[in-house]
Amino acid sequence: MRAMTSTMLKNDSYPAHLAKHLPLLTADQKKWLAKASAFADSISLEDTKRSDSENTFRRDLFELACKEGLGALPFPTTYGGSGGDYLSFALINEEFARRCVPIMSSLGVHVLCQEPVYKHGTEEQKKKYLTPSAIGEYLAAFGLTEPNAGSDTAAIATTAKLVGDDYILNGTKTFITSGGSANYFIVMARLLNPDGTKENAPGITAFIVEKGFPGFEIGQKFDMLGMRGYSTCEIVFSEARIPKENILGAPGDGRKVALGSLAKGRVTIAAQATGWAQGALDAALRVAARCEKKRNSGQLDYLIGSLVLMVESARALTYQAARSIDSGESDVTLAAMAKIQATDAAMKVATEAISLAEEEGLEPDLLIERIFRDAKAGQIYEGTNQIQRMLIARSLLK
Ligand SMILES: Cc1cc2nc3c(=O)[nH]c(=O)nc-3n(C[C@H](O)[C@H](O)[C@H](O)COP(=O)(O)OP(=O)(O)OC[C@H]3O[C@@H](n4cnc5c(N)ncnc54)[C@H](O)[C@@H]3O)c2cc1C
Repeated sequence: MRAMTSTMLKNDSYPAHLAKHLPLLTADQKKWLAKASAFADSISLEDTKRSDSENTFRRDLFELACKEGLGALPFPTTYGGSGGDYLSFALINEEFARRCVPIMSSLGVHVLCQEPVYKHGTEEQKKKYLTPSAIGEYLAAFGLTEPNAGSDTAAIATTAKLVGDDYILNGTKTFITSGGSANYFIVMARLLNPDGTKENAPGITAFIVEKGFPGFEIGQKFDMLGMRGYSTCEIVFSEARIPKENILGAPGDGRKVALGSLAKGRVTIAAQATGWAQGALDAALRVAARCEKKRNSGQLDYLIGSLVLMVESARALTYQAARSIDSGESDVTLAAMAKIQATDAAMKVATEAISLAEEEGLEPDLLIERIFRDAKAGQIYEGTNQIQRMLIARSLLK
């Protein structure tokens, strides 16, 4: 990694493709964008490629990002946050994804996990988990998905039971981003009655689980097609003992806790996907500039025009969704639309960019093939695009 100098952090360099948007951004939003851009500049292409090829998480980069104020950007300064708005956080995610900054996804999930603690946590929980998260001492992960419970959260089979002063958890969570490196986890489990029965029991409940709690273990680590370098793995609870003060929110409120965070998280994913789409478009434009022969047919201009339209539509919906969070009227449907539009755009633009670049499109240096692999995951996680479409329809049909 190259040293990040103070000149690199001056607020005078913004990505050129955002020129049209700059007049609509506040000074603070531009400051965070410049910071993200400088941070991405400080990471060499070799480092970016290595975290992908070796599938290793760069905790050092995560800690550096937190030192730059990015670890808890959209939270008030009371618990160490940076007091920024959600659009600023979206701009950072977009820029990090465009450049394939190796910590992008873990940072997104880290902020996702602070939301429920901030919103539903006790004062003690906020002090204990939010401040160290903001400065990068703690990394957080989100444990919702199970081998047999993905889209259908009602199928969650991980159980919790109050025994004395502890909740006893049993079960497995899968595909947990940052799972192998996190210090604590926001975990959704089915709270049973103290005698182990289900009838009239509270149901899905959220817990804060520290990695050192007895009975908690890291399971298999995944070597995936995309989203590599994020310590994605299973986490396993075998009679795990969670102190009773680590329940998050009220018994039975787990779905509310999880869905409230995911509604914002989907805007983060939309921002990341807008960045992927832009990154692939940047590469396509570089290749197109060299293809006089293809340009002469007119087909290339038609294609590039269509791709630009997709990227800008994704960006417009994403910024609108982020602004709706900042207005205090967070719109879940808008977040779903932004997530679909942006991840589908990223997939389409990356696909076309690879075709256009021919064999060069598979060169890791151009980052298109990496974006192609990552964008596929974007269509799946934090609620698949199919499920998001159903959510949009139901909001109108109910
Ligand atoms: C890279 C990556 C990182 C992830 N990180 C995390 C994480 O940090 N924490 C976490 O908890 N989870 C994480 N996940 C899991 C992710 O959220 C789930 O994969 C996702 O919710 C889908 O669940 P599933 O894989 O079980 O698929 P399923 O729910 O089994 O769906 C399979 C297919 O069926 C479709 N489908 C399902 N139900 C319906 C229906 N009722 N009607 C129509 N179609 C339907 C889906 O759209 C999908 O196409 C991650 C996943 C990936 C790929």
